[in-house]
Amino acid sequence: MEKTFAIIKPDAVERNLIGKILERIEGNGFRIVAMKRVLLTLPVAQGFYHVHKERPFFKDLTEYMCTGPVVLLVFEKEGAIKAWRELMGATNPADADAGTIRKDFAIDLEKNSVHGSDARDTAAFEISYFFSQTEILS
Ligand code: GDP
Repeated sequence: MEKTFAIIKPDAVERNLIGKILERIEGNGFRIVAMKRVLLTLPVAQGFYHVHKERPFFKDLTEYMCTGPVVLLVFEKEGAIKAWRELMGATNPADADAGTIRKDFAIDLEKNSVHGSDARDTAAFEISYFFSQTEILS
């Protein structure tokens, strides 16, 4: 069973969308195996997004991720990484397909409501960045 990592970002938590997003996750056959609601610090957000550190939007993105609590999640399903990327929709909600979470809930390119790992190696890094082995209960 493949695991992926997700974040319900500050814009969605702020608008009380945790339940609606979890409903989409479980309704699409994913099993949640770890979850916590936390306020990220800037160094933690910078470490998480280190692959983007040369991008022009790095400062804005990392500061935005610390503007309010987020929900960190690990969930599993066959082909979970790709399936979650599809359910999230395109990074920019203006380009996202109908029925995707970003199309339905995101505010803009930055405040796009959810994060999802894009490959096996990033999923492994992101899961272990936030969760210890004993916090993941399949
Ligand atoms: P994702 O994998 O679909 O989340 O997209 P990326 O890995 O390319 O970007 C990471 C996150 O950075 C996105 O989800 C957005 O929140 C943010 N982001 C991406 N592009 C931009 C941009 O051009 N400007 C700003 N402000 N944020 C961006």
